[in-house]
Amino acid sequence: MATSALIQSTKLCFYTLQGVKATASQCRAFTTKLTDQQQYIQDLCRNFSKNNLKPNASKLDLAGRFPFDEIKKLTDLGLMGANVDEEYGGLGLDYLSLAIAVEELSRGCASTGMIVSIHNFLYANLVNEKGTQEQKEQFLRDFTKGSIGCFSLSEPGAGSDVASIKTKAREDGNYWVLRGKKSWVSSAIEGSATIVFATFDPELKHKGIACFLVPLDAEGVFRGKKEPIIGVSLCHRAVTACDLTLEDVRIPKSYVVGEPGDGFRIAMEQLDQGRIGIAAHAVGIAQAALDTAINYAKERVAFGKSLTRLPSVKDRLTDMSILVETARLLTYRAATNVSTKNSAMAKYVAGRNAAAVADHCVQILGGRGLSTDYDAERHFRDARGTQIYGGVTDIQKRLIGHFLLKENDAL
Ligand SMILES: Cc1cc2nc3c(=O)[nH]c(=O)nc-3n(C[C@H](O)[C@H](O)[C@H](O)COP(=O)(O)OP(=O)(O)OC[C@H]3O[C@@H](n4cnc5c(N)ncnc54)[C@H](O)[C@@H]3O)c2cc1C
Repeated sequence: MATSALIQSTKLCFYTLQGVKATASQCRAFTTKLTDQQQYIQDLCRNFSKNNLKPNASKLDLAGRFPFDEIKKLTDLGLMGANVDEEYGGLGLDYLSLAIAVEELSRGCASTGMIVSIHNFLYANLVNEKGTQEQKEQFLRDFTKGSIGCFSLSEPGAGSDVASIKTKAREDGNYWVLRGKKSWVSSAIEGSATIVFATFDPELKHKGIACFLVPLDAEGVFRGKKEPIIGVSLCHRAVTACDLTLEDVRIPKSYVVGEPGDGFRIAMEQLDQGRIGIAAHAVGIAQAALDTAINYAKERVAFGKSLTRLPSVKDRLTDMSILVETARLLTYRAATNVSTKNSAMAKYVAGRNAAAVADHCVQILGGRGLSTDYDAERHFRDARGTQIYGGVTDIQKRLIGHFLLKENDAL
């Protein structure tokens, strides 16, 4: 039996056995279980990405230019407050809708997807879910309308080891005074406010950390130079990340999120969300690499036939497709059922898979895979970063192992 006939008969048999009268495409939609609203967001962002992001992604990346126009359009669509309550100007969508949006946007332009991911998952959602009414008026309402928010946790001497941050918070009457240095603050050059984690008592370790809302134009806040990085400027060069120096920045006590000792818990809870965002971003980059590889393989002729007819290329494309789909399913699960383990697993798999898929993509393009005239090398650079920011892959593995043993009373 010819391969296509065999596949067709297997499909029919499968669907008959399941009692499901579905075409292959309906079956895919069924398994992802998107609601009408999620489907709408997917279609909207896919079209936006195709028409507004993909055509300029390479230019933005090579110039290291922040995508101001694109972010303005996404703000007008409401996507810079996707999960924020409607009374503060947001769309009030669920996390999966936002993850789908980040995936689709990252498919067109990884930089834009990352900016949307960090602003929403690490800044706006934190203020929306944990802020007081006064904090939301000052640090949320404008942030669904164009102002950009940041998340300042990492420091020169503390990345993965969050409990050892050195930025100091000292009480002074009705104020806290912040002093220290933060690293790699994404969008800080364009941003208007940031969440800052600082210690008010280093002896207390993680119990001595507080979470502050800090306007970036406050006296004593100094932005460093844009980090020169491969891929999204950050790892996508059109994203900007820089150091922030805090020199005796006076912050009213009403700008503390939660109680002063809650900072570490707040950071960890927010990173559970942030990792869903980075996982979705990685899936989008991986899908873009698969798109690039398929399009190239269809056109390129070697040994008298299209590359898609070569078994090794077909195998690579198949492997890439499996890597994309497994990462997507874990990411959608994590967005639907948020837990530290689910988020860590999604980020771990999505980051690694994106790097593997982008590597296959470079290989399929041969010499052109290394040329900046083609997208493959950009996907390769963009994919690499997803195993680092939001928590390195090694830490995700440790988290997964911890919860696995805990669930099995084996700690
Ligand atoms: C492009 C970009 C954007 C970023 N944006 C932000 C942002 O907006 N806000 C922010 O706060 N931070 C941001 N970061 C910082 C990022 O989150 C950190 O780089 C990351 O958490 C890792 O910290 P580190 O670089 O200090 O590496 P380290 O913590 O020094 O780790 C280095 C390596 O040591 C190993 N390692 C360390 N600890 C362990 C462990 N316990 N178990 C096993 N292995 C371990 C791992 O191999 C790891 O890769 C960004 C980083 C980049 C590159």
